Amino acid sequence: MADSSSPLPQEPAAAIQPWPIDLSLSDPQHPFHRLHMEMALEEARQAFAEDEVPVGAVIVSAQHGVIARAHNQRETLRDPTAHAEMIAITQAAHFLKSWRLERCVLYVTLEPCPMCAGAVVQARLPFVVYGTADPKAGACHTLYQIASDTRLNHRAQVIAGTLAESCAAILSEFFRQKRALGKKNDAGLPGIIGLTRRPKSCESRFASEES
Ligand SMILES: [Zn+2]
Repeated sequence: MADSSSPLPQEPAAAIQPWPIDLSLSDPQHPFHRLHMEMALEEARQAFAEDEVPVGAVIVSAQHGVIARAHNQRETLRDPTAHAEMIAITQAAHFLKSWRLERCVLYVTLEPCPMCAGAVVQARLPFVVYGTADPKAGACHTLYQIASDTRLNHRAQVIAGTLAESCAAILSEFFRQKRALGKKNDAGLPGIIGLTRRPKSCESRFASEES
């Protein structure tokens, strides 16, 4: 789909224009962004089905198209680094046989946390598109601006708000169900073992409504 001879972005400031498709990249509602955010939402739904906090991520390469799809697997893998973005970045690096994810876009349903925004910088990702902001841990705009911090050696263009309502709704529904089950358990009714095991603060990074 792409002309592989297109120049690679050398500077973050130039990273706005290297995409070989003529996109209104700053428009979060561009059909290209919506298409790939819908894929990320499919991943989030898969996380929901696995009783994981529903966050999904997709990485699109200018040259190869979609090269990574992942969802949060923190509980399944018992790994605090198993956020959707981290898994997707590792998948993409394996695919490209390079740790440099240049000419790629990361789509993620929730604003990246400090760890994932740091990984964006480390991977030299030029673009990040996210769905809904994270008031408790957002590190692209909300609490920190890691991806655009000029003290670091790489900056990414970050676009917010693609399918924001759907990305927020699935998180709200997940935590609404958790709260309902927690109340059931508190009342002595049967529930799923472990759902109330974690302190609330463990979930708070994902859930603006968990304040
Ligand atoms: Zn993260």
